[in-house]
Amino acid sequence: MDARRLIAAAAFACLLFAVGCVGEVDSGSGSGSSSSARSISVSMSVADRPASSEASSSASSSTSVSSEASSAPSSSSAEPAPPADLDITQRYYADLQHGEKPAQYQKYIVLHDTEGGGTADGVLEYWEGNGNKIASHFIVNKDGSILQCVPLDKIAHHAGWGSNGHNVQFGVEDESRDDLLGRKPSSSYTDYGMNSFSVGIEMVHQGSDSYPEAQLQALDKLIAYIDAYYGGNAGTIIDHKMWRLGNSDTSSAFAAYLANYRDHRTHD
Ligand SMILES: [Zn+2]
Repeated sequence: MDARRLIAAAAFACLLFAVGCVGEVDSGSGSGSSSSARSISVSMSVADRPASSEASSSASSSTSVSSEASSAPSSSSAEPAPPADLDITQRYYADLQHGEKPAQYQKYIVLHDTEGGGTADGVLEYWEGNGNKIASHFIVNKDGSILQCVPLDKIAHHAGWGSNGHNVQFGVEDESRDDLLGRKPSSSYTDYGMNSFSVGIEMVHQGSDSYPEAQLQALDKLIAYIDAYYGGNAGTIIDHKMWRLGNSDTSSAFAAYLANYRDHRTHD
């Protein structure tokens, strides 16, 4: 099997959904496999909402990331070290960071599937190589190892713009925090902005495959780490299709786990 091609296809699938740059753009909010997404309500207290907007700074402002975006990954010294029981590698590229995301803007953890096989390394390689400046903060491998691609205090382009009305539904009301330097929403998508308020996690997953226990355990620990990073609660956990109706990720096989994560921040 051509692993490289598989990786490319995998990463392409989810990221296609993430940016909505092809096909999805004109489909609006009403089509596709949206029934499960619509059946889930998300509440967010007013107190959790960001109080004001701040201008995003340049993605190149981080001193911990090489300005040679395409050639020199590096780790950040701005974050606390992850817990020892989390097998996490940090590999950052400046062009995958889209400005500052201060902690007070954190409201959601958005879960994704890569929609393919391969490994986190291959997915990040594809993201960095295709020039679309798309990435999630984390990719969780099936064996539980994790690759962090974007620091938590930086915006990652992982969620794309949401279906119509989702700003209100998800409590994302500050449209002035446009998060994509060089990538603006089209005029027909006025509710863009989830990336400014969320941490994105991709699980290496394809189709109806099960999620290995090691991967779910790692996700548990990763969510706990993110919660701790944000003072005990990183906000509401959703999957990508809850933001973008019609998206396929995460898989329906993940629904029970997602419900549990949202209630208890751990799976059975
Ligand atoms: Zn996705």
